[in-house]
Amino acid sequence: TVRVRIAPSPTGNLHIGTARTAVFNWLFARHHGGQFILRIEDTDTERSREEYTQNILDGLTWLGLNWDEGPIFQSHRLDVYRQKVQDLLDQGLAYYCYCSEEELNAMREAQKARNEAPRYDNRHRNLTPEQQAAFAAEGRRPVIRFKIEDDREIVWNDMVRGHMSWCGSDLGGDMVIARAAQAGDIGQPLYNFAVVVDDIDMQITHVIRGEDHIANTAKQILLYEAFGATVPEFAHTPLILNAEGRKLSKRDGVTSIFDFKEMGFVAEAMVNYMTLLGWSPPDSTQELFTLEEAAQQFGFERVNKAGAKFDWAKLDWINSQYLHAMPAKKLTDLLIPYWQAAGYEFDPIGDRVWLEKIASVIGPSLTRLKDAVEMSWLYFTNSLTYSDDAMHQLQQEGSKAVLEGVLAALNNRTELTEASSQEIIKHVVKEKNVKKGLVMRSLRAALTGDMQGPDLIQSWVILHQRQFDKPRLESAIA
Ligand code: GLU
Repeated sequence: TVRVRIAPSPTGNLHIGTARTAVFNWLFARHHGGQFILRIEDTDTERSREEYTQNILDGLTWLGLNWDEGPIFQSHRLDVYRQKVQDLLDQGLAYYCYCSEEELNAMREAQKARNEAPRYDNRHRNLTPEQQAAFAAEGRRPVIRFKIEDDREIVWNDMVRGHMSWCGSDLGGDMVIARAAQAGDIGQPLYNFAVVVDDIDMQITHVIRGEDHIANTAKQILLYEAFGATVPEFAHTPLILNAEGRKLSKRDGVTSIFDFKEMGFVAEAMVNYMTLLGWSPPDSTQELFTLEEAAQQFGFERVNKAGAKFDWAKLDWINSQYLHAMPAKKLTDLLIPYWQAAGYEFDPIGDRVWLEKIASVIGPSLTRLKDAVEMSWLYFTNSLTYSDDAMHQLQQEGSKAVLEGVLAALNNRTELTEASSQEIIKHVVKEKNVKKGLVMRSLRAALTGDMQGPDLIQSWVILHQRQFDKPRLESAIA
């Protein structure tokens, strides 16, 4: 059965790139009825933080990317890595390297001077026990390197990129797999090593990750072979690019997936959009789908090699589609925090029905949830500002007379429904002998302060419940 994993390092919040990789892993697992596993790669104790781990778990949960196993923490598996490093040492496939930072720098400088690519020249590969002891006596702390033969050929058939071929000499010399704790002991394992040990132990069948890991894959394949393990399939997903064609980064204003949440994107829209970042369904005109629907159709045949441009307009459009179709109850739940943050006064429980009316009247105009703050301001605050168009409307002939008529009709009522507001409008049309359009425009100007906006009748009912309609009509007439 298919077993895939997402393996974030908790050195930062859940990034869009990692989240998109998680989406592809999740889709692939579900498509094949396999397992999606979460592993936290926290061996770098200096940069890993618990709050980032929490952010990653929360982010995946928010997106609906439920995992079947995990989280498995690499930091709990240090003994396993130690044992595996020892195995390689015992087999003569790895060795202690005592080169100091200065020696390595000098090596690189000399290579640069000769116009050669920087690499480790394997100089400590064949130290005698006496030489090792002498370095240790100097107080040097060794690292452990895994031997990479220059003439080794490394090939794999990438699920995205097709035939891949590397040469041992491309990999920068014997690779460090663990730092030293004490001389003679095995210290912190490095990413490329721990990842292979884990992927073997967790029986990962397909490694799906960003294309920035391609060179790591070449190195990792050598480790699989050293362990006598089956090499999994690999899929290297395209990078996410900004409008300038560079890797999407902090400078683009988004780091964590929760930045998008804060901007007012909903989880369903985010995963829908991320699915399309590099993949397209067989019917490429289809742009809206749930994760489950995408999973049915997902495969790497339709994942692009080229980088995926991040398209804010498309994300906005997808988000708006989800918001427009969202039931008022759910939309209200999502909007309450935005209204609260804006300082609007309301009782989330007592005013619930009223709030749901606001949600359903503005819902069809929302692109991002936070748009609701500006769009619903007129329902929460009694002071109104008038746009130029609205001012102009109120000065039109007959406008004030119409509003006086409305006010008079309104004065006998405590309750206002959509039906009774329609009646009032009809009544004024007749009484003042004017066109309905004039009544509607005048009302819109007086009640909302603008000539465009949400449904007028529904808005009036909402405003009436707060008794904002009469004072607005009065001040429009004055
Ligand atoms: N910890 C690595 C990262 O965050 C995982 C890469 C992999 O999937 O092997 O990029």
